[in-house]
Amino acid sequence: MNDMKDFLKSIPHKFSREDSALLERALAFARDAHTGQKRKSGEDYATHPLEAAIILGKIFPDTTTIVATLLHDIPEDTKVTLEEVEKKFGKEIASLVDGVTKLGHVRLRNSKDEFYVENLRKMFIATSEDVRVMLIKLADRLHNMRTIKFVPADKQVRIATETLEIYAPIAGRLGIGAWKDELEDLAFRVAHPKDYEKVEKTLEEELKSHDRNIKEMQKQLGQILRMEGIKFQDVSGRVKRVYSLFHKLEKYDGDITKIYDLIAFRIITKSTADCYATLGILHKHFQPVPGRVKDFIGTPKPNGYQSLHTSVFDKFGKVFEIQIRTDLMDEEAERGIAAHWFYAEQGKADNLHRQSSWIKELRAWQDEAVNAEEYLESLKLDFFRNRIFVLTPKGDVKDLPMGATVIDFAFSVHSDLGYYMMGAKINGKIARIKDELKKGDVVEIHKSKKPVTISRDWLSSARTSHARSQIRKYLAEHDRGIISRVRELKLQDLKLPRFFRKQ
Ligand code: MN
Repeated sequence: MNDMKDFLKSIPHKFSREDSALLERALAFARDAHTGQKRKSGEDYATHPLEAAIILGKIFPDTTTIVATLLHDIPEDTKVTLEEVEKKFGKEIASLVDGVTKLGHVRLRNSKDEFYVENLRKMFIATSEDVRVMLIKLADRLHNMRTIKFVPADKQVRIATETLEIYAPIAGRLGIGAWKDELEDLAFRVAHPKDYEKVEKTLEEELKSHDRNIKEMQKQLGQILRMEGIKFQDVSGRVKRVYSLFHKLEKYDGDITKIYDLIAFRIITKSTADCYATLGILHKHFQPVPGRVKDFIGTPKPNGYQSLHTSVFDKFGKVFEIQIRTDLMDEEAERGIAAHWFYAEQGKADNLHRQSSWIKELRAWQDEAVNAEEYLESLKLDFFRNRIFVLTPKGDVKDLPMGATVIDFAFSVHSDLGYYMMGAKINGKIARIKDELKKGDVVEIHKSKKPVTISRDWLSSARTSHARSQIRKYLAEHDRGIISRVRELKLQDLKLPRFFRKQ
């Protein structure tokens, strides 16, 4: 099999000989572990981690992270344990794989509640403290979305909705435009097939009438720039994506003529100064649409996106958007945080620094926050720093304070679960109910048929006010219960005739 060769070819990065050997070893290990397993498509299972690794490697060609991507499904889906992965590939790779496994337990339930969805997104960010875990998970999801047609129909909708609500927004927040765009369109088609079809049709109709103008315009742009002596690398055109067009159409009551960025040309210049020069020249040659100039170089978007945008009329009165940016800005728009990281961290194996710089990146965004919404966002993140997120076996997220125990968890699921709890497992291992939880733990409560006897020392092991008040309530009732039982017993002791006692 030449998979590794194909792999190395498809990634525009030169790996050292040691790195290539390590990658090869990881692929062989994954193949071995997944032997006999098939994807729903009928392919060998190992094609999945390999494809995910290619997706990842294209934007983040870091060997450690790629190896972890190749191994990401092993502890969950095979007999090979995380310990064995650690023995063979070391602590760092094992901890990335572990992070991905834990994130995999988080599922979007059927709730449409916005707060819930927001919480889930935060949970994702908090759990994958190490941004590399998030990158792996996103690459994993992108490959699963590309092959979603093989999955049973009802499951498709759940996965697609989750992708639309959770994964795509996170890719966007991290500035990884290439992944966000593809995730959105793949998921939108599955989650809302009727809307997708409708928008696609509208788009096709509109483009028919545009076709000649588009080619004309592209040629013209190149000519003008050459004539004016601007050095540029590329002029390309793109059609607005279905998902983002859908949102715009909703805003404008379905009137496609009100959408000014249906077709956008992208001019890649050699320097920032050339970006502004190009903008001036374009406005000299084409009538600009008022109020459509956006300077994202002067004021980048919160996710780091930089570019100049303007919309202009061509000589037939059609409107086009033009985006102007340098090649570096263009690359960052596609790769986002992965690009920043790769440049900043190349050659450094400083893991701790990596972890904290992920948090720092998030914090930096907050510091740059320009509006109230962004500020609010930053407060929320602070709030989440002192929280841990743990999971039910079904993947529901429970948000608890640091130091929370199994007792807190049980009461947070349902007060009855607390009253009936006779034991628990954390991550599949028997645990004590006073044990403290760590973020990402999967907690399973064993329920007894009858209410259990709760002792007073449960109180000191509970951290949340909710659990404590439930326990107090129980203790109070329990005390009352004892008093009434004592009375009852005394009556029984008197051995009164039946009809007497009945009263
Ligand atoms: Mn996977």
